Amino acid sequence: MTSPKFDIERLNAFAQQMVEGKKTAIGFPCNQNVKLADFYHWYAVSGLADVAMNNVGNPRKPSLYSLNTHEFENEVIDFFAPLYGFAEDDTWGIVTNGGTDGNNHGIYFGVNVLRDRSALRPILYVSEEAHYSIKKLGDLQDLDMQLIPANVSGEMEVDALEQALDPSRPALIVIAMGSTFKGGIDDQDAIDAVLARKKPVALYRHVDAALFGGYLPFTEHAHLVDRRLRKFDSIAVSGHKFFGFDEPLGLFITTNDVLNTQNPFHVAYLNDAVPTITCSRSALAPLKFWWQIHKTGFEGYRHQAELILKNAAYLKERLDEIGYPAWKSACSNTIYFRRPSERVMRKWGLAPNEDERLGGKLAHDVVMRHEGMHLIDQFIEDIVEDLEQARQG
Ligand SMILES: *Cc1c(COP(=O)(O)O)cnc(C)c1O
Repeated sequence: MTSPKFDIERLNAFAQQMVEGKKTAIGFPCNQNVKLADFYHWYAVSGLADVAMNNVGNPRKPSLYSLNTHEFENEVIDFFAPLYGFAEDDTWGIVTNGGTDGNNHGIYFGVNVLRDRSALRPILYVSEEAHYSIKKLGDLQDLDMQLIPANVSGEMEVDALEQALDPSRPALIVIAMGSTFKGGIDDQDAIDAVLARKKPVALYRHVDAALFGGYLPFTEHAHLVDRRLRKFDSIAVSGHKFFGFDEPLGLFITTNDVLNTQNPFHVAYLNDAVPTITCSRSALAPLKFWWQIHKTGFEGYRHQAELILKNAAYLKERLDEIGYPAWKSACSNTIYFRRPSERVMRKWGLAPNEDERLGGKLAHDVVMRHEGMHLIDQFIEDIVEDLEQARQG
């Protein structure tokens, strides 16, 4: 059998297509301002590109597999933990392989905590408009689930939660910090008030802040993801969204108490230290994150957060100006609007959705770092062209 041909021209053409395509990708929350060329250069010349590192194990404990980047992983967690209001001496976390992985840990750790407090099976409560990963993970972990309706802005209907909540069973509440399509943020104060009234036998709160958790800590809305005020037990954030990494990764952060309630199976050859669901974990991801944190700093992130919110507001303004039906939640970088033509949908890589309350077919634009005012103006020109064509019939 002949070996498959190594076709560098094909690869180069492919790379060109991706580099070109990123310019008009505005329908998904992937920050295309990825800046990792210097990291990869260092990674190759340092020799690490030829080492099989692996972050299996608990990064806070000595691991018997020593070719890892646990020390950098811990520093990444220690940089972010206080930004989400975790106390310095009461933080445990990992660099995950994405928002879903973080949510999986949140739900799994939550179930273990609740099991420790009650023999009854928990119920997972989440809004209908929360990210589909939650529903999938609830299914995967075989949990009883209550999907709570969301209002027209994509936030959980708190009255409906109050009705649905069964206080005789442990409650695992997943708070959507940014519903997927509309970027609605569940009202944690109102949810807390319901929980205080209904007093479920046991309670665990996980925050799914995949997209918003990236930028909120660097804005005036930081209190929304501050555990000192919001009392959540764990939080998941994606790394390839706001932070602009080139591949899926993320953060999962919780407290020592929650960690200590986990009951990891005995794994002698790894020093008994594997509380994570995933065994082998990327050693490269924490190193990249560490690199970025040190290159960007708090001020750099603050500036990036300010830019995306400013540009999101600009997009909303421009749509309002041309009288195009569009909506945006507070603190959100997601604008949703009446669905444009197929031509515009394809050109800009937009994601579709429907809501009869808003007139039916919709699409959204998630304003990330690569979508500046100039690109927004080009997008608006396309929408105006749509409108003109419709007028001409
Ligand atoms: C993107 C997203 C997820 C899924 O995260 P991945 O990193 O794609 O696995 C979960 N929840 C919310 C709110 C999201 O925006």
